[in-house]
Amino acid sequence: MKRTLGGFQKKPWLESVVVSSSPKKAKDTTKAKLHIGDQQSMQKLAKSLATTVWEQKSCKPMKSSVLIHSADGPIWCLVISEPKSESINEIPASYYAQARDRVGQCLAELTGYAGKTHLEIKVHGFKKHRDQIIGGACVGLELASYQYKNSESHQDKLPSSVFMEDTKSEILDHAWQGWGTNLARHLVNLPANILHPKSYAKMTEDLFKSQASVKINILTQKEILKNGLNLLANVGQAAEHTSRLIHLKYRPKQAKNKTKILVGKGITFDSGGLDVKPAQFMRLMKKDMGGSATAIGAFAQAVFSKTKLNIDCFLAVAENAVSANAFRPGDIITAGNGKTVEIDNTDAEGRLVLADALYYAQKTIKAKDRGPLFVFATLTGAMRVAVGLDFAGHFSSNDKTASKLWNSSVATQDLIWRLPLYQPYFRSLQSSFADFANSGSRYGGGITAALFLQQFIEKETDWSHFDFMAYQSSSKGALRGEGGNGQLVQLMSHYFRESVVS
Ligand SMILES: [Zn+2]
Repeated sequence: MKRTLGGFQKKPWLESVVVSSSPKKAKDTTKAKLHIGDQQSMQKLAKSLATTVWEQKSCKPMKSSVLIHSADGPIWCLVISEPKSESINEIPASYYAQARDRVGQCLAELTGYAGKTHLEIKVHGFKKHRDQIIGGACVGLELASYQYKNSESHQDKLPSSVFMEDTKSEILDHAWQGWGTNLARHLVNLPANILHPKSYAKMTEDLFKSQASVKINILTQKEILKNGLNLLANVGQAAEHTSRLIHLKYRPKQAKNKTKILVGKGITFDSGGLDVKPAQFMRLMKKDMGGSATAIGAFAQAVFSKTKLNIDCFLAVAENAVSANAFRPGDIITAGNGKTVEIDNTDAEGRLVLADALYYAQKTIKAKDRGPLFVFATLTGAMRVAVGLDFAGHFSSNDKTASKLWNSSVATQDLIWRLPLYQPYFRSLQSSFADFANSGSRYGGGITAALFLQQFIEKETDWSHFDFMAYQSSSKGALRGEGGNGQLVQLMSHYFRESVVS
């Protein structure tokens, strides 16, 4: 298996284990079976499979999944129910999300079995929703196959072969989405002594250099300054490895859309700068590049699964460090678009690097070629307080795009919640010395951050901004353990696919 990016596999795990037929029982192999169906069909199946009275008893009141231990190995009967909501604010788990989380959990359990394992997955019924269920199952398998620590020995515990009735190309098509999510998780998991602006740029180059449809342009600190991107340059100038602006351009044959633009915040470590963070808030700050990780994850899965869409990706990469030449509170810096910004707090650095990346993205891609633009960032603590960790706060200038994103959010259970770009709050960023300051009142801090970014958006641009956590402290669904969670990669994958269809 070819490896890159500090131990990350270049291809989906399923690629190496999917088989086109069910193998005859091999010696010393545990045969695990995973049946997926509605409650009625699974109840019937479980009853027929259960041999002892004790097992049948445990199947009888079956509302959700059942595990039966057979002589060959474990058999799961997973119940998937129709997504229904009682009220308008409930978001029912989609077929895709139910399959992803359940199948992922089964794979995690299966790693506890000793010896070689063969896994078979069969979907019963669900003709109309079968593709969503298979999609969820494949993504769930990919997600649960990833582990940062002891990744080699973890791989050895995974099934050595997997069989589903679908063709390998159908399975892999879904698997890339899980792989893209894992890529984002892995980048977040890499610590700041491994992933810094210089190595981040190199890893990105390594990942895409074999792709003829992708062009890579990396601006170093010198070129960033030459382009007048002083906000991005200033934030990163105190670090050993100074700022980078990475531009990835994907132009597949047959794609006709106005290019979709992803912009990500890539602060590889955020000490807070001279307004240094207290220890407990600095502890997780290797994850402050989570927005850029999501942008790369979504971009990479589109490239490697050969999605027929033009996409551009811009990553604002810097380390917010402390040294004699660190930028200071009170400094006045001229942005790429000519606006002056007074630094109120050096810890509000994400919006600074994004501001220049947004200006540069719109300068590079003229209004007539510009499709919707999406900003991804672990931007404010205020947004975590507002919507919690499961949701990304979402801002949008375009109701149509927002509604498409909402549909993708519900379909993948990769949740977003829209908030207002309420102009009067911009008052809190007023400055006596510059056009505006980089931070202000802590009330509505997520909204003022979005309004700050809006200062760098051209009128014609259809733009959306996501403010999210990108990290989980313990297992959730198919995502095992603490670490990066690849938030919004699945949502964007779904949105891209829908964009190709329509
Ligand atoms: Zn910060």
